[in-house]
Amino acid sequence: MTTTDMKYADMLLLRFGEFTLKGKNRSRFEKTVLRHVKEMVKPYPQVKLGREFGRIYVELNGEPAGELTEALKKVFGIASVSPVKVARSELADILAVSHSLLHKIAPPAGSRFKVSVRRVWKDFPYGSIEMNRLVASPLLQGYPGLLVDVKSPDLELKIEIREGQTYIFCEQIEGVGGFPLGTNGKAMLLLSGGIDSPVAGWSAMRRGLAVECVHFYSYPYTSELARQKVVDLTRVLSGYAGEITLHLVPFTEVQTSFSGIGQDNLIITLMRRAMLRIATVLAEREGALALVTGDSLGQVASQTLPSMNVIGRATELPLLRPLVMMDKSEIVELSQRIGTYDLSILPYEDCCTLFVPKSPTTNPNLRIVNKIEATLPGYQSLLDAAAAATETVRITPYGHEKPADLIPVQSEVREEWF
Ligand code: ATP
Ligand code: MG
Repeated sequence: MTTTDMKYADMLLLRFGEFTLKGKNRSRFEKTVLRHVKEMVKPYPQVKLGREFGRIYVELNGEPAGELTEALKKVFGIASVSPVKVARSELADILAVSHSLLHKIAPPAGSRFKVSVRRVWKDFPYGSIEMNRLVASPLLQGYPGLLVDVKSPDLELKIEIREGQTYIFCEQIEGVGGFPLGTNGKAMLLLSGGIDSPVAGWSAMRRGLAVECVHFYSYPYTSELARQKVVDLTRVLSGYAGEITLHLVPFTEVQTSFSGIGQDNLIITLMRRAMLRIATVLAEREGALALVTGDSLGQVASQTLPSMNVIGRATELPLLRPLVMMDKSEIVELSQRIGTYDLSILPYEDCCTLFVPKSPTTNPNLRIVNKIEATLPGYQSLLDAAAAATETVRITPYGHEKPADLIPVQSEVREEWF
């Protein structure tokens, strides 16, 4: 079915997703979704919200239906959004509004069509079966190209007759579904500028985890643009959350402490472990109970099973890797769908790519790694200093926050490195 520009809509009907099956948490989950919906509609002052029978009604009062549908279908826990036209609960008005709705939708000739009436208000003078016919007949006369097909229609005109008002709709736009944000706790997402970690973060959020992001940057080896890219990626993710906290960790000292110790092939392993350690400190400080990464099994040297084993031991928190069993093509597809792909492929270098050795190990030895870390001078205090120097920004979908406002960058120093 073709989606219209939805200008016709007076209201949006939001349906809850799979969690409605889980009896005891249902009310808590619904309240959480409602809170997030409230957050999303804040920039639209005329909107009024209502909640009823496992649904949320968004009265538009002139606010833009298309824009709001885009924002609200991103709220986790919402399975679908229908733009609704409201009629008075009188036969003549129901007919007139159904007619004008069909006119806006302009179904192509040959479309299979069905009318489904639900009479919620039992005092309405016609029964639902009778109403199906009373509405369908004049519509079919007006649109001779339509074919009746009650089994598998292309276009189903749904009419809900309530006391006072009747809701008429035929579009059902898929929402992101999942569990309401935060209903499964909070995790710290290690967010690089790549394709994978934003997708991992989104997948974690979709399972009901609130996320805070942590990004490690190595000024002056990485540019201001690389850090801005991470802010922009966080902003895309915040479109699904309302607001996201981003921690920016200065990682240069830690990272450079690994070069020159004659263990180049272990540098990535050491770096990843250091990142996990600092992220753990931040997670504990912020009350997050897990770390999330964009690791995908076998994708690069640091994501082989032996590497994951050695790297993962640097934290005692559960290490969640939502993409671990996914193919790259599936991850790319998801990143396109959630809107992070175009930013992720911008070419700004990440701190890790800059320090990648010629042959990073795919099979690090835990004993050796432990020994190196134990003998690195001042290692723990370097980690502590990085955690302590972390800057925190709150990112919203509508903001223009730039980390450059917080952390001075002298880009000319970067040139010398190359
Ligand atoms: P991504 O596309 O997410 O960068 P990747 O396949 O390029 O992933 P790596 O660069 O090896 O893989 O990183 C593995 C994971 O480590 C990332 O998914 C991310 O969770 C974390 N990570 C890597 N670099 C950083 C960074 N600079 N800041 C925060 N987390 C990072
Ligand atoms: Mg990467």
